[in-house]
Amino acid sequence: MEAIHGELLGGFRERFGRAPVVGARAPGRVNWIGEHTDYQEGLVLPSAIDRDTWVLATPRPGRHFRVWTRDLDEAGAFDVADLEGERRGEGPAGWLDYVKGVVFALRERELDVAGFDLAIASSLPLGSGLSSSAALEVAVATLLDGALGLGLGPEGCARVAHRGEQRYVGVACGILDPFACALGRADHALRIDCRSQEVRPIAVPPGRVALLIAHSGVTRELAASAYGDRVAECRAAVLAARQAGLVPGAGALRDLSPDDLPALAGVLEPTLLRRARHVITENARVDAFCAALGRADLEAAGALLVEGQRSLAEDYEVSIPEIDALCADAAELPGVYGSRLTGAGFGGCTLHLVAPEAAAEVSSALAARFERRFGRTPSILEARPSDGASFVSL
Ligand code: ADP
Ligand code: MG
Repeated sequence: MEAIHGELLGGFRERFGRAPVVGARAPGRVNWIGEHTDYQEGLVLPSAIDRDTWVLATPRPGRHFRVWTRDLDEAGAFDVADLEGERRGEGPAGWLDYVKGVVFALRERELDVAGFDLAIASSLPLGSGLSSSAALEVAVATLLDGALGLGLGPEGCARVAHRGEQRYVGVACGILDPFACALGRADHALRIDCRSQEVRPIAVPPGRVALLIAHSGVTRELAASAYGDRVAECRAAVLAARQAGLVPGAGALRDLSPDDLPALAGVLEPTLLRRARHVITENARVDAFCAALGRADLEAAGALLVEGQRSLAEDYEVSIPEIDALCADAAELPGVYGSRLTGAGFGGCTLHLVAPEAAAEVSSALAARFERRFGRTPSILEARPSDGASFVSL
């Protein structure tokens, strides 16, 4: 983290010919359990991790932004006035749109935004499912909040980041990512209720677990359309359940419990039943996982991850062979409590709950097995549940 900060200082001076006066950082995140529950108003359990995105900045006269990202070595510029009331044009989003989206969301709230020279650098892999996008957005929101005294605070910054990605960048994302990046707490997970938006920190037993994250090397091209399909299937399941009078007033699968599954089986066609069963049992697994962490019962926590993976693979059908293999291989290694896909699926990462003393051995054994199966080396990192975003005056 500090290394990036130092490197970025030099890059900033070179680029803009002066020193930055303010900075902010925001971490990436990983979701322990509670996958594909957010858009049905359910429960999620992310931690911020110790890889983060830094932004450094200096105010400019007027309302013009010049932005440079070290990670892509690309630069861009925009005027705050151009974003007022204007949605982004057609076509795929570019990296600068994530910065513009934050300013767009601030202007929507009628907050005054002055111009800045701004430089970005991250220790997160981009586009790998560790939420580099929310890290960038929350870092920019935190920077502007601190520098301009907007009074947003961490939760406000998360909401602004979320609004920017949803409305300006155009990604149908939930609050999980920005909330985790903004509100993360060292050595904790955050139980987030996506209905009430209540956030409860859950301690991860100190010194008892290592968290490994392996990237399958598969990027999520399929994700957008398949994600949309799952969202639609869940809506259809709720509608059918409501029409059958099973859940009077139910607005979401959140309102159903595993006890309702036998009755649901009578009214949903098989695919919708499996989709609903994943979401309903996954919500229950989030609370069971929190309880297991509370008792420091890592075997029970690991078993819930394994159950969650089975549900994602068989009922929700969002896993892929690389992810299945990483989870199956890990299950055979000593010191692994449990593994699952983390993120939307169709690629991205697996998460492994491991005894700390076994972490190095598990990591190299997993990589070797993956290489034998798929002919390429996966990137595996050990992450620590970490604090959320922060602002610094330089
Ligand atoms: P994830 O959030 O899982 O990393 P996304 O596809 O949601 O994946 O976001 C990745 C995109 O966010 C990148 O392709 C890029 O446009 C933008 N981005 C994130 N971090 C940076 C950065 N440090 N510099 C420039 N662009 C970034
Ligand atoms: Mg993202």
